[in-house]
Amino acid sequence: MSSITVLSHHRAGQKSEKDDESFLSVIVPMYNEEAVLELCHQRLSAVLDNLKQKCEIVYVDDGSSDESWNIATSFTSPQHQIRTIRLSRNFGKEAAMSAGLKAAKGQAVIILDADLQDPPELIPDMVEQWQSGFDVVDMKRKARHGEGWLKRTTAAVFYQLMNRLCEMQIPENVGDFRLIDRRVVNEINKLPERTRFMKGLFAWPGFRRTTLMFDRDPRIAGQTKWNYTKLLHLAFEGITSFSTRPLRIATGAGLLTSLAAVVMAFIVFSKTMIWGDPVAGYPSTILVILLLGGIQLLSIGLMGEYVGRLFIEAKQRPLFVVMDEQIQDVVEFKEEVEA
Ligand code: UDP
Ligand code: MG
Repeated sequence: MSSITVLSHHRAGQKSEKDDESFLSVIVPMYNEEAVLELCHQRLSAVLDNLKQKCEIVYVDDGSSDESWNIATSFTSPQHQIRTIRLSRNFGKEAAMSAGLKAAKGQAVIILDADLQDPPELIPDMVEQWQSGFDVVDMKRKARHGEGWLKRTTAAVFYQLMNRLCEMQIPENVGDFRLIDRRVVNEINKLPERTRFMKGLFAWPGFRRTTLMFDRDPRIAGQTKWNYTKLLHLAFEGITSFSTRPLRIATGAGLLTSLAAVVMAFIVFSKTMIWGDPVAGYPSTILVILLLGGIQLLSIGLMGEYVGRLFIEAKQRPLFVVMDEQIQDVVEFKEEVEA
């Protein structure tokens, strides 16, 4: 009987080996997913059984209040190691993924949603791309089934804005479903920030990347944890964590309005001098006050956002707290099973 953990420990530090002997981790963040978890495990195991690589599945329970933890810890597999990590409360998917990335031992790591919106059946294709030399395999959604036009439009606007404001490119319509090589995982694990906009963090290290297209399925059961307010927060967080360009835009707006004020003062002054015009009317005055007030409040708010970010980073709190961890050890290695 051997333990995958020991084997992977000394491999993890080395240069990645993208061969059939390598070790693959699949991270599944879950939050109140009792309705789909069994099916998810079945489909995932069936796929991993047919891979040549040794695999571990890392379930990260993000403080579920339902039976998710009990279900996940009851899973067994003759060939794959199953690790279940329980966070001490709901820290959010970003933190759950970070916990999974820290815990994963594989030379390649795949992140998969528990709700089966990311089909596990695509894993062999991802591994194939990785073995052919790519370090990151981004999975791009061809169609966003089960998502209304509003979600699709707002998503498109967000990516446009994000990529215009940030220096690196964040691939459009790529969620968290992706394969990441050990070297890239190590770089991501080193990123210390508390506000973890994962799409950005995944893109930040660079490396050799490729994209596979896939059809994103609708949720099998249960409810999405996202609503528009949360998405708006995430979008704002993404932009302010990766770019200070909005601050420059605020400065630009200030400069432009000051310039407009100078021009207007000149016009008003000349008109009064030449035609003895009375002071221009009330509506235009109110308009200018409102416009300037708006720009000022917006800029102060924007600055506040960045100061708030600094405040959160300065506290240096951990990203997540692990409450329990269970390792379902592998009974036998695949080679031993086959022998
Ligand atoms: N999730 C999580 N913590 C949370 C919210 C969600 O671990 O606080 C998990 C969830 O269980 C699922 C994945 O993240 O496996 C994606 O969540 P969801 O389906 O709600 O997001 P969507 O697919 O709608 O973007
Ligand atoms: Mg989902």
